Amino acid sequence: MSLIPRSARHSDRPDYDEILEEIRREIHPHLSRGHVDDRIPALADLRPDGFGLALRTVDGALHQTGDAVEEFSIQSISKVFSLTLALQLEGDALWDRVGRAPSSSPFNSLAQLEHDRGIPQNPFVNAGAIILVDTILGHRGDGSDAILEFARSVTGNDNIRYNPKVTRSELEHSHRNAALAHLLRDFGNLHSEVDTVLEAYSRYCSLEMSCADLTQAVQYLAQGGLNPLTGDVVLTASLTKRTNALLLTSGVYGAAGDFAYRVGLPAKSGIAGGIVAIMPGMWCAAVWSPRLNRTSNSYAGTLALERLTTVTGTSVF
Ligand code: GLN
Repeated sequence: MSLIPRSARHSDRPDYDEILEEIRREIHPHLSRGHVDDRIPALADLRPDGFGLALRTVDGALHQTGDAVEEFSIQSISKVFSLTLALQLEGDALWDRVGRAPSSSPFNSLAQLEHDRGIPQNPFVNAGAIILVDTILGHRGDGSDAILEFARSVTGNDNIRYNPKVTRSELEHSHRNAALAHLLRDFGNLHSEVDTVLEAYSRYCSLEMSCADLTQAVQYLAQGGLNPLTGDVVLTASLTKRTNALLLTSGVYGAAGDFAYRVGLPAKSGIAGGIVAIMPGMWCAAVWSPRLNRTSNSYAGTLALERLTTVTGTSVF
């Protein structure tokens, strides 16, 4: 008898439908844990006990359970697409303006940016993502729908849209992001006007997608940088590897260490409760559950991904 659990042997493909369904049942009692974000009032429209989970293998097979086709604003998951575009447009010069260190403060910390003299710790904290948006605007111009175009091209879904109510709500309550942008500008690390960059940043965060869409959207990160729908190079293999490294070290902010221990995958979270996770060469998963833990990551979503990698015996380690 093999000592390796059946599900961990790569030769026989796990029954993902059954595994996802089992995880949904296991997670159900935990759906009341945590709190829906209240910094963006429009997020109060989310169903607090919603839960969706999807997994798409590199050969394109989609497995899903719960509310996996329900759309939500992807919030900071959009920073994965912003980073990809900024790297395409700017290459290594991007790293003159933003660091690659793990986050040691909350994702919207002003004190950290002041301490680091206007160089955000990494591209996934808000100040870092504001630099990404500034880079995109610098190359593509104001009012550019670069992210929308990108999301549609990697998903093949032309129905993907921004949620204007979420954009507006976020903009009306963007004092902290405005403060970060002003501080960046004061340090000479922001080229666009603050209002222009904030508008684009808020729009990007309001992009609405489902878990099923997201597993397709980040598929290039599991496939060496290729868009599996078109065969186009989205990122070089080297930049794909490096993007996954950044997702592992800072994709879930201050929780990165705990998340690496429990889940063991590159991942990116958003405050509407979505998380994407990448198992390079095998699959991408996306989970959504709006109640957040103390590190602003989905409570049940983190738990579900922990179960997924445990039950399937897969992780990057
Ligand atoms: N729109 C949110 C903000 O800027 C995104 C934060 C997140 O999803 N972590 O605060």
